[in-house]
Amino acid sequence: METRADAAPAETAAPVERRASVVEGWDEARAPTPGTAFWNAMPRATRADAREAEVTKTTSPLRVVHITAELAPIAKVGGLGDVVEGLARAHGKMGHAVTVILPFYSCLPTDKIDGLTHVMDYDVTKGRYQDGETRYFNFRTTAMRGRVNGIDVILLKPHDDERSNIFQGSKIYGGSYDEREAYLYFCRAAREFLIASGENPNIIHCHEWQACGFPMIFWGLRDAYGQDCDGMSNAKIMLTIHNLDSNGEARQEEFCATGVDASMFATVDKALDERTIGHNPERLCLLKGGIVYSNHVTTVSPTYATEILAGGGGFTGKNLVGNKHKFSGILNGIDPESWTPSDDPFIPYGYDSTNVKSQKALCKKYLQRGLGMKEDPDAPLVVCVSRLVPQKGVNLIEQAIRTTRFNGGQFVLLGTGHSDGVFRKMAETEEFGENSDSTRLMLMYSDALSHLLYAAADIVIVPSMFEPCGLTQMIALRYAALPLVRRTGGLADTVFDIDDASIDENERNGFVFDGTGAEDIDVALSRAFNLYKSKRSTFEEYQKRAMNVDNTWTEPAQSYIDLYRTL
Ligand code: ADP
Repeated sequence: METRADAAPAETAAPVERRASVVEGWDEARAPTPGTAFWNAMPRATRADAREAEVTKTTSPLRVVHITAELAPIAKVGGLGDVVEGLARAHGKMGHAVTVILPFYSCLPTDKIDGLTHVMDYDVTKGRYQDGETRYFNFRTTAMRGRVNGIDVILLKPHDDERSNIFQGSKIYGGSYDEREAYLYFCRAAREFLIASGENPNIIHCHEWQACGFPMIFWGLRDAYGQDCDGMSNAKIMLTIHNLDSNGEARQEEFCATGVDASMFATVDKALDERTIGHNPERLCLLKGGIVYSNHVTTVSPTYATEILAGGGGFTGKNLVGNKHKFSGILNGIDPESWTPSDDPFIPYGYDSTNVKSQKALCKKYLQRGLGMKEDPDAPLVVCVSRLVPQKGVNLIEQAIRTTRFNGGQFVLLGTGHSDGVFRKMAETEEFGENSDSTRLMLMYSDALSHLLYAAADIVIVPSMFEPCGLTQMIALRYAALPLVRRTGGLADTVFDIDDASIDENERNGFVFDGTGAEDIDVALSRAFNLYKSKRSTFEEYQKRAMNVDNTWTEPAQSYIDLYRTL
């Protein structure tokens, strides 16, 4: 495949197609007001109906309980929230009984939880380490039950404790509490809830390091007190690693927040972090404990699974190499309930593949008007919706913003994260600041705006350094925006280069580059711009085709059920 700038793609030679620059169907009365958060006041703000999921009957339904720090849309920071929502809903539709156990963060929008009711108050054993001593006590906890867009949720809320502030604050993570203490307590609280409620699940599906205390204490306490100590005789534990980068380091004495002494886990074959041997203090790695104590471990794409086994997962990856037989990669899906452009309350002009061209042009104009950019239907609109952290290729995003402007395109970035400094600086310049006619740097989180961006975009970039799965490229495809991605992890499993003759024509759906240099993304962008500008009808054909790629949960949800049944 040719990817160098000097190896110009065939399209450059073709004459530029002439196009009318008017956008038909524009309704001035529905136009957004620039300078406002117009994305929160969308004209189609209610969807056709709040549909109850159609449930297929299965002959042997499973009882699945998810233990997670995130669930979209009420507690979403990134893809984890989307994945738990999508997988839970897909399994519910297949006839399985699914419950999601989530912390009752003080910032949860309770108006989005239907039928919120009190289930029980109960005691959770918890420890606190102070002045060289661990003291154990009962921590009163409330379980509430409700439904979030049709999904059954249990919310666990610690009673007030002025010394810990668990789950208090205005954000999901980084609130005013110690995350390690909070999630370790949460794991114990989830176990005690399952015992007290008699739920007796078949599968307890844990996600990320935040839920890893669960398998550790589940099997740890059984080892100590016998198989029948918790009444969950059927349960097997699945752990899904969404990102191996965060692995939950804990000092041994901090583990007492689970109410269990850490000494039974503090060996190399269990949860001791071997990198800390000889250090004072030696530490536990919760993700490692989760891997060792779960019945099966999955990650979120086949390529990321291979990368991990090849050593890309660092220290915790090594533990998976030793446990290969219980490790597999299942590609995430996206939830059609949240991501369907014909039925999306956050976009002003809905569309499907039959009217995508005209309606997407209206969404683009709507965005340009709202953000005060030049209302140019022929400027390729490049979008990036991302956490702004090193993983996401911050330098390459910056480069793409510059190159897009240089080549006469428009760029909108929607993102937050600790590496946003470079964009804050850019936003202060005349070229890329709030009066630029081509660039908007929206350094914030907004689910509503993200939907509009996908609907308006021609191209969505995902230049990640590594990407376990990635949802943005799949959402882009569903919204007929062509993804432009770095070849890694799940991006490599879902985006296939339009210029790669070794791939079946019908599979090609975007632009892919290797390397991490500015010129690498520039070449991919120039290929995308060339196609857009000189062969627009071909570009539009690819857009239509992209909408038909099935990246929903249908297949992956079945793969999870097949796997659950083998445990
Ligand atoms: P990760 O989980 O690493 O953040 P994914 O691609 O798996 O990456 O999922 C990201 C999800 O979060 C997508 O649904 C994306 O639209 C959303 N998202 C990321 N940043 C923002 C933001 N600033 N505002 C709204 N949604 C965002």
